[in-house]
Amino acid sequence: MQSPMLASWDNVTVVTQNVDDYHQCAGSSPVYTVHGNHIHSSCQACGEQVITEGLFFIIEDGEIPYCACGGVYKPNITFFGEMLPEYNGTEFVKVMSEVNLVLVLGTSLAVYPTASLPEYRPWNARLVVINRDPTPLNHEAQLVINEDLCEVMEKLTSNPWSFHLQAL
Ligand SMILES: [Zn+2]
Repeated sequence: MQSPMLASWDNVTVVTQNVDDYHQCAGSSPVYTVHGNHIHSSCQACGEQVITEGLFFIIEDGEIPYCACGGVYKPNITFFGEMLPEYNGTEFVKVMSEVNLVLVLGTSLAVYPTASLPEYRPWNARLVVINRDPTPLNHEAQLVINEDLCEVMEKLTSNPWSFHLQAL
């Protein structure tokens, strides 16, 4: 989900499991991409970084993209079973401990360790959950909207007062 609305707010830290860089494209900063991003790929042997799009013509021909050193290029995303290279639990807990609002957007909070981050918010921080399915933190949230996130954000950005009245 691209988030120009979030990017327009001050002091917003985004922690995302998405690998698409949409938050950065929308202007959000800082953005922690816990599962990496697919914009760059790296050689698994020497670590050289390249733009993934530059490898598409090789992949589309059904070939494996190799580095000059003989190593294989892999997108800088975390595949199932791999470690999370960008997950700095201590830093995330520190960030979370200083917030006054947590927005849980478009996640069922089922994938750890990211799913546990809202638990580190201060006792008086507000919690808002917008997700199609219920989450384990719904009962702690001050506002829960169990609808499709894209539809909710579209309503919020197009006519926030109308949406507010519907939510009540
Ligand atoms: Zn290499």
